[in-house]
Amino acid sequence: PASPVTSHTTSHTTSYVTPATGEALRVRGAAFRTRADLKVEDGCDARCAYCIVPDARGPARSVPWDDVLAQVAALATAGVSEVVLTGVNLGRYADTGRDLADLVRAVAAAGIPRVRLSSIEPLDLTERMLTALAETPQVCAHLHVPLQSGADAVLAAMRRGYTAAQYADAIARARAALPGLAVTTDVIAGFPGESPDDHAATIALCERLAFAKLHVFRYSEREGTPAATMPGSVPPATRTARAADLRAAGERLRATYLADAARRPEPQEVLVERVRAGVAEGTTRDYVHVTWPVAGGARAGDVVSAELRESATLR
Ligand code: SF4
Repeated sequence: PASPVTSHTTSHTTSYVTPATGEALRVRGAAFRTRADLKVEDGCDARCAYCIVPDARGPARSVPWDDVLAQVAALATAGVSEVVLTGVNLGRYADTGRDLADLVRAVAAAGIPRVRLSSIEPLDLTERMLTALAETPQVCAHLHVPLQSGADAVLAAMRRGYTAAQYADAIARARAALPGLAVTTDVIAGFPGESPDDHAATIALCERLAFAKLHVFRYSEREGTPAATMPGSVPPATRTARAADLRAAGERLRATYLADAARRPEPQEVLVERVRAGVAEGTTRDYVHVTWPVAGGARAGDVVSAELRESATLR
C-alpha cells in the first residue's frame, strides 16, 4: 500500500465465555480474525478514593494460566494477528506464581504476531515488566498508563499511591526500554480539593510527557466511595470547564503525535483490519489508525509495511 492516511473508526464488541472458567472473554466482532481482546483479570483491590470497582467487581482475580494459554492457542490457530490482554487492573494478573510479565512472554511464544496491553498502572511498570516487554518483539509500542492528576496533593487524596514525579519516572523508564513508545492516559477533571494550580499542573505534566492521547473524565461522585464525601467539592461548572481544557490539551497532543507519525521516514507495520470498497483500514503498532486505497490483494488479518503520509481525523 502506498500512502495510508490516519483516520477514525469504530468497532463493536461481542462476547463469549471460556468453557473452563466461566470468565468472559471479549472478542471484537468485526475484527475477530485480526484482533482479539482477551480478558485475563477482573476486579481490583487498589481502592482509589473515587472508584466503585472494588465494591462492584470484588477483589482482583485472574483467569487461570492454562485457560488463558488454551484460548491463545485457539486464537493463534484461528489466525488472529493481535491479542490485546485486558483486565480491570491488568497488572494484578497472577496465577500459580506467574505474573503479567510471564503472560506477555507466553502469549507471544504461542504464535501471536502482535501482543498489546489494554492498560497498566504506573507502579506496575517495574523493571521486570519492562524487561519482559522489551524482550518480546511481538509487544506493540503502546501503553495506556492512567495518570488521573499531575498534582501530588490530588494524587494523595485520590489514594493513587504515587507522586507526579514517580509517574514521570515510570514513563521515562518505559520509553527507554521501548523505543518509539506511544503513551496514552486517563485524567480526571475536578476531583474534590483540586485547585486551579493543581489543574494547571495536570495540563503541564500531560504536555511535558507528550501523551499520544488523553481520555478525560469529568469527576462525578460515586455513592459509597470515600471521594463522594470529601471536602472541597469543585463546582460542576468548574469541573466542566477544566474537562474542556484537558480535552483541548489532548487534541493538541494528539495532533502533534499524528503529525510526527506522518513524518516518520521508515515504513510502519500496519495490521489490516478491514477492506471495504477499495479502502483498507488498519492500525500501526503504536495504535495510529490508518486508511488507504488498495487496488486489491490486501485482506483483513494481513500485516503490511506502509509509509504514513498525512494525518487527518483523530483516533
Ligand atoms: S481506579 Fe483502577 S486501580 Fe483504582 S480502584 Fe479503580 S480499578 Fe482499581
